[in-house]
Amino acid sequence: MKKFTDMEEVQRITQYASLRDACFMTARQWQARQATAGDGSTGGPLLRSTADVKRGVASGNLDDMLELALRLYTGASADQDRDSANTLCMTVLGAPNVSRSARGRALSMLAMIHWESRLTKDTPGHWNIDALYRAASFANEACTIGFTAGIACHIGFDVERAGFRKQEDVKFPGWSAARFEALTELWRIVDQVKGRMQREQAKRQEKLKKDPAAFVCAAPGCGIEETYKTTLRRCAGKCAMEGKPAYCDKDCQKKDWARHKAFCRDGAPLDDVVASLRHTIEEESKPINLADTDSYQPTLEFSEYEISSDGTFQLVPGSKKQEHRVDIPDSTGAFGGKDIKILSKNIDPDVLRRFRDLATESKDRKA
Ligand SMILES: [Zn+2]
Ligand SMILES: [Zn+2]
Repeated sequence: MKKFTDMEEVQRITQYASLRDACFMTARQWQARQATAGDGSTGGPLLRSTADVKRGVASGNLDDMLELALRLYTGASADQDRDSANTLCMTVLGAPNVSRSARGRALSMLAMIHWESRLTKDTPGHWNIDALYRAASFANEACTIGFTAGIACHIGFDVERAGFRKQEDVKFPGWSAARFEALTELWRIVDQVKGRMQREQAKRQEKLKKDPAAFVCAAPGCGIEETYKTTLRRCAGKCAMEGKPAYCDKDCQKKDWARHKAFCRDGAPLDDVVASLRHTIEEESKPINLADTDSYQPTLEFSEYEISSDGTFQLVPGSKKQEHRVDIPDSTGAFGGKDIKILSKNIDPDVLRRFRDLATESKDRKA
């Protein structure tokens, strides 16, 4: 396996991979893939060369048009060209022989393209409400034909957070929520997802209550969290179980040893870092309040792709048991100024930390 060294390449490819999942897979397909996670040998879509995809496009293959659109949009294995990506999606929608699945994927991708321009670039924090509406109506149309991709849910959550689901929530003077309210299929799906998130959150909260420190890396500044506590390694020293730190990797354990060794003996006081993690995680695991749209910020799920030494791309099985999480501050305003959380089952904790640090750095540079 090639080591991730070029961060820009990693960003393009992860964007490709996550948008592909977000726009081209329905929730049901995604679940099916999770269930058959041993099936990594078929390889990821980027195994095909862009030249080959273009040949398919030239012969009118709609699936290839969508694949090329995604590559052009993200710049993965192709020069970035977002206008052409948009045109390709519109071509697929207008094709006389379009299948329901291709139609769903094209609609989802168009939804994503418009959603990306929902915040105006020149005046940070200003919404382009028409772009948001276009995104939401593409998402609604995809849901209507039974193609519910992750992006549709993201957009639904976003519209609700912006205050456009119901007229009484509209924060922008002179704007009406009526056209958003009419997107009934989108709202049905959003409510479904919310219910599921709430049930999952409740389950995790139960486990956190029993042993909070087992889920967060104790090395200061690391910020890696796990979905399951078996992923983190706990200190094997003599520190009491109650104040025992856990680490995402050996480096973190080494880095933290100078601090922790004072607590790592019989009868030592409770590790204060672990005690404060306990507080952090209790804060975070508060139940989702459905009345408060700010409290259910969706997380981003990163796909299990690996770049091999010849530069090709492979889907690899990821175990939910090894899922890492990291919080990333929203420096670009792409998530409405709220921090996001990234989940990954196979991106190295070190790479996740670098993502986080990059995001923080670009924020500092802008300020
Ligand atoms: Zn760590
Ligand atoms: Zn210890």
